[in-house]
Amino acid sequence: MKYYILFGPPGAGKGTHAGALAERYNLKHISTGALLRAEIAAGTPLGMQAKALIDDGRLVPDEVVEGMIENAFNTIKDVDGFLLDGFPRTLPQAEALDSILAARGEELTAVVSIMIPDEVVYDRIAGRALVEGRADDASPEIIGHRIETYHAQTEPLIEYYKGSGKYHEVCGHPGTIEEVRERVLSLVETL
Ligand code: AMP
Repeated sequence: MKYYILFGPPGAGKGTHAGALAERYNLKHISTGALLRAEIAAGTPLGMQAKALIDDGRLVPDEVVEGMIENAFNTIKDVDGFLLDGFPRTLPQAEALDSILAARGEELTAVVSIMIPDEVVYDRIAGRALVEGRADDASPEIIGHRIETYHAQTEPLIEYYKGSGKYHEVCGHPGTIEEVRERVLSLVETL
């Protein structure tokens, strides 16, 4: 099985490009953000617990998302691999992923990182708010929290994965959606 991580700051285009990659390589696209939003929409206890954190642009506890990933690996069949979008976002999550994979006799295939500057994050998310209506896209203050959280907790993963030789970066700005998608697909083709 292949295990890819689609990495990058909020608004980098992970969700936008996941579909093409998943289709080309028969991967299951797993977005922890989308799974959490589904829990909120369904009004589950987990969703209710996560909502305040998500709406404020903060991360939910590591154990919550680690459980979601493990559950997905255990239950989803008939694919050639998984494309993780928005997970891991902290070092403990990255270490947990390594352990979950090791326990399955598997290992990470590659990290595909889409990089955009902070100013672009604000513009992209503000634009997306008009289309998707996500509460955590709604205000500059909350977008600011998400950028802070990315730099403080998620960005250190770049060094973690560079150390394993599995880290690959594509430029997410400037470029049209089609251009960035082509960069992502060509990169993965070389792996
Ligand atoms: P996303 O759709 O990836 O932008 O995620 C939306 C929100 O869900 C994030 O701002 C977090 O509050 C929460 N979330 C998603 N994935 C994770 C994760 N791996 N760890 C912690 N919180 C997460």
